[in-house]
Amino acid sequence: MVGNKANYSMPDVLVLGAGITGVATAYFLARAGMDVWVIDRRAAPALETTYANGAQISVSHAEPWAHPGAPEQVLRWLTEKESPLYFSPRLDWRQWVWLIAWLWQCRKPAADRNTIEIMKIALRSRQLYRQVRKAEGIDYAQKSLGILHFYRNPREFENARRVAELMSENGCHSRPVTKEEIDSIEPALALNRDIIGGTYTEDDESGDARRFTQALARICERIYGVRFLFGANIDSLVPGGNEIYEAQITAADGSKDFIRARHFVLCLGPWSPFMAQKLGIFLNIYPAKGYSISTPLDRTNGQYAPQVSLTDDENKIVYSNLETHLRVAGTAELAGWDRSLQYHRIRPLVEKAAELFPGVFSNMDLRDPHWVLANLHPWSGLRPSTPSNLPYVGKRPELRNLWLNTGHGTLGWTLGMATAEKVAEMIQGGIPEGC
Ligand SMILES: Cc1cc2nc3c(=O)[nH]c(=O)nc-3n(C[C@H](O)[C@H](O)[C@H](O)COP(=O)(O)OP(=O)(O)OC[C@H]3O[C@@H](n4cnc5c(N)ncnc54)[C@H](O)[C@@H]3O)c2cc1C
Repeated sequence: MVGNKANYSMPDVLVLGAGITGVATAYFLARAGMDVWVIDRRAAPALETTYANGAQISVSHAEPWAHPGAPEQVLRWLTEKESPLYFSPRLDWRQWVWLIAWLWQCRKPAADRNTIEIMKIALRSRQLYRQVRKAEGIDYAQKSLGILHFYRNPREFENARRVAELMSENGCHSRPVTKEEIDSIEPALALNRDIIGGTYTEDDESGDARRFTQALARICERIYGVRFLFGANIDSLVPGGNEIYEAQITAADGSKDFIRARHFVLCLGPWSPFMAQKLGIFLNIYPAKGYSISTPLDRTNGQYAPQVSLTDDENKIVYSNLETHLRVAGTAELAGWDRSLQYHRIRPLVEKAAELFPGVFSNMDLRDPHWVLANLHPWSGLRPSTPSNLPYVGKRPELRNLWLNTGHGTLGWTLGMATAEKVAEMIQGGIPEGC
């Protein structure tokens, strides 16, 4: 198939994984003139975590889950059956190492530092989405109407104001808003009486991550000559001295092959730590499983749907209007790499969404689980989360030609373009002349 000696040619870079991080990395490298291949075990790009996420390009979401108020909130949620967070203790050292590191990142200085760092990456990324969609003509149901976070609880609102202040001081213009202002920014929330205030980030955006990633992959292939190999599992990376020598793969037909390249970029999302572990490298990435539903919108129910992308911070649910669908996403399960769909995790998303926007769901049989599962496109994905929510971007000292662009957690869609640009620049700087 791919690298067998008969038709072998060696690319400059082999990107492992075709989610948003892998495809964006390939784009920046190929645009700079490099010969790039991308490999993924699925049949097309963006069929894993990038598939049906919350769709928010949210600089305003820069505050990581690890913050000073989080441990108490998490403890409270552990006793609630349908809380936004579910923790299933396992005999898995990865889970415990991750949790301890997460608690350490909850200290205020660490949380503030992480927020600012994430925000800087997110600001650059948001700029890149604008530039790239204009330059390449990509349509992904994007909306540039800002993101509105809303609150019912005065304590949560107060903390949100503090975070908005911190972000505004550091270049992300986020402002506190009253309930009256919320109603004029997003009239679809006007009927709700529980909301007491919010924060509004006018420059934030939303859009369909799968559509964008698949369109960008087509552009990579057709315009910039990137070669995509789908249906091929990467079994291992073989080291030789201080570098990766080749990737060993199994093709869809079961045949074994290898690919050699000058550089390898690890973009395997929640599966990155397994590939790294085979090389003796520890990546503190643990999956935080999340769910989404995509409710079809037509001319009747669409008029009741929000246009502005929304975040219900207390319930950890986001809402994005993708023109044909209302995407509702949330929940976090720390329970290993299992991707099965649990109906009792979907139900709170449906209930909360129907409570907020009854007009969108008015003609739907939401009490019937079969109907919900068949019509609201339920989906689950594994966020590749680090304790700080900061991704691994750059090179490992152990291996000269292994690069990382992985561990983007809750914000891979938001941060993906900027970290891809960064790693592409580093690789270009690192290739000696003549190679
Ligand atoms: C419910 C939910 C809501 C979210 N909402 C948002 C949001 O609103 N905004 C935001 O910014 N982020 C959001 N995220 C996070 C975001 O979706 C992820 O951070 C991002 O998609 C991760 O992209 P990735 O490229 O790292 O991983 P993936 O998209 O998972 O890509 C990894 C790829 O590697 C491939 N792969 C893995 N192992 C192998 C192997 N051995 N061989 C070959 N191929 C392999 C997989 O097939 C996959 O295609 C959300 C996530 C979830 C789950």
